[in-house]
Amino acid sequence: MERLLSEHWHELDADEVARLLDADLEAGLDRFEVSDRQERFGPNRLTGRRAESRLMLFLRQLHQPLVYILLAATVITAILNEWVDASVIFGVVIVNAVVGYLQESKARRAIEALANAMTVDATVIRAGERQRVPATELVPGDLVLLGSGDRVPADARLVRSRELQVDESSLTGESVPSQKGTAPLDVKTPLADRENMVYSSTLVTYGTGAGVVVATGDRSEIGRINELISTAEMLATPLTRRIATFSHWLLYAILGLSTITFAVGAFRGEPLVDMFMAAVALAVGAIPEGLPAALTITLAIGVSKMARRNAIIRRLPAVETLGSTTVICSDKTGTLTQNQMTVQRLALVDREYAVTGGGYEPRGAILEGDAPVDVAVEPRLRELLVAGEACNDARLRTGGDTTRVEGDPTEAALLVAARKADLPGDAAPPRIDTLPFESEHQYMATLHGAPESGRVVYLKGSVERVLDRCEGVWSPDGQRPLDADAVHRRAEALAGEGLRVLAFARKSLPADADGVDHADVASGLELLGLQAMIDPPRPEAEAAVAACRRAGIRVKMITGDHARTAVAIAERLGLDGAVDADGRLAASTGAELAELTDDELIEHAHRTAVFARVAPEQKLRLVEALQAPHVHGHVVAMTGDGVNDAPALRRADIGVAMGLSGTEVAKEAADMVLADDNFSSIESAVEEGRGVYGNLVKFITWTLPTNLGEGLVIFVAVLAGLRMPITPVQILWINMTTAVLMGMMLAFEPKEPGMMTRPPRDPRAPILTRPLVGRILLVGLMLLLGAFGLYELAIIQGRPVAVARTMAVNVFVFGEMFYLFNCRSLTQSMFRLGLVSNPWLLAGVATMAALQVAFTYAPPLHVAFDTAAIGAIEWLWVLGVGLAIYVVVGLEKWVGRRWSGGSRDPVRRRRGDSSETVPSAG
Ligand code: ADP
Ligand code: MG
Repeated sequence: MERLLSEHWHELDADEVARLLDADLEAGLDRFEVSDRQERFGPNRLTGRRAESRLMLFLRQLHQPLVYILLAATVITAILNEWVDASVIFGVVIVNAVVGYLQESKARRAIEALANAMTVDATVIRAGERQRVPATELVPGDLVLLGSGDRVPADARLVRSRELQVDESSLTGESVPSQKGTAPLDVKTPLADRENMVYSSTLVTYGTGAGVVVATGDRSEIGRINELISTAEMLATPLTRRIATFSHWLLYAILGLSTITFAVGAFRGEPLVDMFMAAVALAVGAIPEGLPAALTITLAIGVSKMARRNAIIRRLPAVETLGSTTVICSDKTGTLTQNQMTVQRLALVDREYAVTGGGYEPRGAILEGDAPVDVAVEPRLRELLVAGEACNDARLRTGGDTTRVEGDPTEAALLVAARKADLPGDAAPPRIDTLPFESEHQYMATLHGAPESGRVVYLKGSVERVLDRCEGVWSPDGQRPLDADAVHRRAEALAGEGLRVLAFARKSLPADADGVDHADVASGLELLGLQAMIDPPRPEAEAAVAACRRAGIRVKMITGDHARTAVAIAERLGLDGAVDADGRLAASTGAELAELTDDELIEHAHRTAVFARVAPEQKLRLVEALQAPHVHGHVVAMTGDGVNDAPALRRADIGVAMGLSGTEVAKEAADMVLADDNFSSIESAVEEGRGVYGNLVKFITWTLPTNLGEGLVIFVAVLAGLRMPITPVQILWINMTTAVLMGMMLAFEPKEPGMMTRPPRDPRAPILTRPLVGRILLVGLMLLLGAFGLYELAIIQGRPVAVARTMAVNVFVFGEMFYLFNCRSLTQSMFRLGLVSNPWLLAGVATMAALQVAFTYAPPLHVAFDTAAIGAIEWLWVLGVGLAIYVVVGLEKWVGRRWSGGSRDPVRRRRGDSSETVPSAG
């Protein structure tokens, strides 16, 4: 134990490593040793350095062009002895930075919390028992088991390896998986070549192995180089990037305009200081500085909402892309179905039996017709059930009255069937070796034998693969001939009822056989029979499929299961797609897809709803066909759980991994992880995605008219040689308070009714459609007219400048406030949404109104902002302008709804033919 920090584990042989670490290569550590070491070494977790300190985060808020302008303004006003203005401007800079800091750290926390929500489990042997434990609980000396798809939970010296391959790119950058072994290596071997070591956070892509943990947490190799990914990158999406580019472009335009303003005034002989302040006011007013931050917050709120609905976002852009998803390709087993398997039918070549009872409770009987069957006197039936029990890695745990399942539900169902027949748990001789189930092989085999007996292999898998390998039918008194077609027909009949069918076979091997590989089971097997199990569709999936259909999203089922089974389930779920001659949903098998050219596949993939017996590798081709740019250009969400699904998950616009049953490799490749493996969570995420995008657009539509109005007010004043109706500090006041108190509250806007009855958004469409640009111009002009008009009116009527300006500021604030209610929906009237459905917004508006009263009446604010109290008549004018904006925009929306022939009105759409909502070809 003293040499626990040895750098040379790879140089030692396995027994030496075990001795140094006080580890046991068979039984693992015992419970006391584990808790003792946990205390000494702490949790197996990376503490992680902060990518950016709090101070840096705060300083970064100051690193913005607008802030530089404001700081320059502070200095100049200070030099001119305008101390009030100088301190107000400087105060605004600081407050702004604090608000930005708080918002950004909140957004980051939301995202970081998601990373922590995804815990990783590890399989260990402790006290002779195989267990699943949280990876954080591992200690040096633990014996960990690794299988394909796992993430290596800690640095370990391998002691067993069976064709183990590990993707170490996260550590070494090498993208080709490395082959692993157990032999000691030269001490000088570099990390990337240490074949007998596996390192924390790398991914097992093939094979199995076992290793002794040598380093955990920050002492692991990854812990030493640990640097968190830059969160700034994490917070960027295509939309925020487009907005950032837009803001940049706008910035230069406005700076140019400010310079012109300054030059025009100076040329006319106005005082340079006044003109400088006008230029500053223009820049402050017209640059939508808060926009990128507001978008990030809105996205972060969306991410938390999705997490609450079991969709955990791993990459932020997914939030946005989800809203424009046009196709969802979903696994069947466990995602569209419950993965609650129960064997219902057993078939021998010439007889069929029913199994009663449901779920995993081993209560039920085996019947032939109506008569119970005694399995003991039916050796062929017995052998079929023995094969199901023997070729099996699942376990049933009975605690009190309930039975829990560990492992693959398909296999658990076989155990339950064997129990119902009262088979003893050890009907087969002990297991010697295993060929684990892999989707691409579609079978699993186990070798059994006792010292005195011969060896037998049990094979179970898909009917096609198993039959291919059979040369006859097994019976206790010798092999009988096999009619493969008849078996296929029986299997298809069972599959047609929606049952998942597995075939079983056996083969005797020589008594000295000590292992089984794929060549041993390639031929010469004897068929035992079939077991068919029900896996009911998830009731909520049926509703989700219907919701997708209304929302113009095609749902496709992709499964390794039999085509008939898949179609039966797909029809129960109400999937929509091409039909065959007798009106049933058409299915394509992987073999058929392989025959198609890329061009043929594009049309085919677009139309077909069910893909069966698909190999994981084919998913990638399907995604690409659906996405094909100049044809349908679908935005594809694709689910997956295995190692081989990773390329398709990466390629899909939204890669969706299964949180419960998925491998770490799949999760790593995915954009989103389903905490409950449930299809309906994808649908919820799409819904939230549409909501988030809608809220983003609402914020943009709300905020831009203010910038436009403020910019124009200053520009027009300078051009016309008039005094400014609002001062730079007043503009700062408006921009600072309204965005946080009102605009941000749009992010809490609940989803609009009818949102899921519209077709998906075209991802290539501009963020702002023409009508929205028109609306922004309209409102901007109304703010200009209102503020300028009331200011001039007040001046003409002989009111003091401070009063006139206070009115102008109030026009902006209350104009924005009324317009905020217009912006709660881009198309629908606020009354349809429910007046109080967004309490945040109401609270924000109330706070804003109170602040505005203070701004108008509180003496300290009079000093700071050059304001003055205004009377009832003035308020009526101000509120009149606000109301006018509300009414005009309301009318414009109403006309828009009429004009577009109701297509923007969800209720009308719903009455139409449902197939109309599916985007048509081309
Ligand atoms: P899916 O998850 O889409 O239903 P799989 O790839 O898991 O498809 O399974 C494909 C086929 O492989 C199944 O139809 C079944 O015949 C067979 N199969 C599934 N699980 C096992 C298993 N544990 N052992 C042997 N064969 C299996
Ligand atoms: Mg499966």
